[in-house]
Amino acid sequence: MPELPEVETSRRGIAPWLQNRRVARVIVRQRQLRWPVPWEIDDLLPGQVIRALQRRAKYLLFRTDAGTAMLHLGMSGSVRIIDAKEPAGRHDHVDIEVSDGRALRFRDPRRFGSLLWADDPSQHPLLKDLGPEPFDDAFDGDYLWQKARGRRISIKPFIMNAKIVVGVGNIYASEALFAAGIHPKRRADRIAIHRMQRLAETIRSVLSRAIGAGGTTLQDFYGSDGEPGYFRHELEVYGRGEEQCRRCKTPLTVVVLGQRSTYYCKSCQT
Ligand SMILES: [Zn+2]
Repeated sequence: MPELPEVETSRRGIAPWLQNRRVARVIVRQRQLRWPVPWEIDDLLPGQVIRALQRRAKYLLFRTDAGTAMLHLGMSGSVRIIDAKEPAGRHDHVDIEVSDGRALRFRDPRRFGSLLWADDPSQHPLLKDLGPEPFDDAFDGDYLWQKARGRRISIKPFIMNAKIVVGVGNIYASEALFAAGIHPKRRADRIAIHRMQRLAETIRSVLSRAIGAGGTTLQDFYGSDGEPGYFRHELEVYGRGEEQCRRCKTPLTVVVLGQRSTYYCKSCQT
């Protein structure tokens, strides 16, 4: 499933082809995505200039003077830039053609993705209650510590809650907690402020390393007909089963926490 770094990598890959280009045509071949594609996509988007291609949480935002198209990749979605005349495959649900003959093509075999429309995305029901972006100035250790007051839940589901901070998926939560030396089951309200500061830093560093690794694959967003160039993660704990901790050689521990597989080192993380 595309997580925040993959969505950001996608944004950087497609933005140069779309920003400041006029939408010539929109083709919706399959309207039944996670939610039905609204009429505004067909009626308002054509003719508009894409002023900016931004990201909020895992939504790609195509900003125009008439409103903003919001694209979510869901479980299996991907985007690429193609020659608009390239024949579509059965999972190629939407094309957004721009004036130079190229198009953004959205492919989504499982159809958990969505393409929505908002006058003001910051007020859209799916976005308005979200916490800050991990790279925002508003996100730091003081913020995490404040938000944790009175929260008796474990720190891992706490940082995975999008109302606290967006974009910390399961892989990155395990990795950030390992890097910060914090046990994933430790209660959020029992973590000292200096450890929260360290955690805010490690959340940012694991995400930015993943985005940086994606940067080497940006060329894959134009013209390729395969899967998007999602990178291999360099992971310290996630998915390593009971292999040895790279730091202390203790076998790693795997538990299910909040219905998600959780990997940690019981001697490095307290
Ligand atoms: Zn260890």
